[in-house]
Amino acid sequence: MTTHNIMLLPGDGIGPEIMAQVRRVMAWVEGAYGVIFNVDEGLIGGCAYDAEGVPLSDETLAKAKASDAIVMGCVGGPKWDGKTDYDKRPEAGLLRLRKDLDLFANLRPAMCFDALADASSLKRDLVAGLDILFVRELAGGVYFGEPRGIEELPGGGRIGINTQRYTDAEIIRISRVAFDMARKRGGRVHSAEKANVMEAGLLWREEVTKLHAEEYSDVKLEHILADNCAMQLVKAPKQFDVILTDNLFGDILSDAAAMLTGSLGMLPSASLGDGGPGLYEPVHGSAPDIAGQGIANPIAAILSFAMALRYSLNMGDAADKVEAAVSEALAQGLRTGDLMSEGMTEVNTEGMGDGILKALG
Ligand code: NAD
Repeated sequence: MTTHNIMLLPGDGIGPEIMAQVRRVMAWVEGAYGVIFNVDEGLIGGCAYDAEGVPLSDETLAKAKASDAIVMGCVGGPKWDGKTDYDKRPEAGLLRLRKDLDLFANLRPAMCFDALADASSLKRDLVAGLDILFVRELAGGVYFGEPRGIEELPGGGRIGINTQRYTDAEIIRISRVAFDMARKRGGRVHSAEKANVMEAGLLWREEVTKLHAEEYSDVKLEHILADNCAMQLVKAPKQFDVILTDNLFGDILSDAAAMLTGSLGMLPSASLGDGGPGLYEPVHGSAPDIAGQGIANPIAAILSFAMALRYSLNMGDAADKVEAAVSEALAQGLRTGDLMSEGMTEVNTEGMGDGILKALG
């Protein structure tokens, strides 16, 4: 029997509540596919700080590194908000994990389930069936580039500095991820940058073009300026399959596209490095306003686990089944509070888990 080592990091707030439903889906996959998930549970974020004095201990990090996939909930909350010591904050645990594993490729699907098409800010026919995958560079660009800072100007006044920088190697490794993903999906990549006004964008375009010609000419590549991409996302989002972009533009474009699909409680993500385990987590935070009530939407966490099945555990068929079960539960009219609308059946976290398990059969 195949054994997969999973590092489970529920985190803070609603994290443990939604992860309990992920555990149920894991158990179903074990039974249906004859695999074993060897699950090790650890602390991350505020709860880790309280128990271990740091938001991610060396021991938890080492275990995470040795696993096949890391499935995380969320971190943070008002209890730790006042903490000024930056590396003791809950988010520092997550950043350490990303940095240490060199997770440079952030995958964020923007999928619109048919049953939720009316919850979108766009018209139903523009979003029904929407299925975009953002491949965002996560480890470089303007968020990390040097020089950076705020300086006093000699003649008075101040200047804020950030530097957009990308090496050819950084561009090539993220482009490779986008082309590989496109081969498993619709076979199309839009690469978004600002080659018209930025040298880093021009290099990006040149390197993507070169790699495409050399190794991926079976994939359809189009270059698009990031501002036009933003416009097209709200005008005709279904034209996109995979969108490849840098850290800054990816941050903004993927958030805009995410909102086309309904609630924050629906959005999964994956962060991948070269070879090691991927990190799978919902896009949302710890939702302190509803934590402890058992009413959070577990779908983003469950879809994140489906991404782990697909991208780290080579179980694409199981991933398809989990996604289809989520779709089926929604089609049955089940809604957690964040998705609730007239005529639907309101359920709590466990009730949504029940519905998904029932659809799995
Ligand atoms: P949030 O995502 O936690 O919540 C925003 C709103 O969405 C809230 O009203 C919340 O109730 C709702 N919501 C979020 N997820 C939901 C779910 N699964 N089901 C139902 N409703 C859901 O963002 P926030 O309030 O800005 O941040 C709260 C805390 O989370 C902060 O400490 C922040 O730093 C942290 N945070 C962590 C992550 C992460 O772990 N990756 C991401 C974002 C924010």
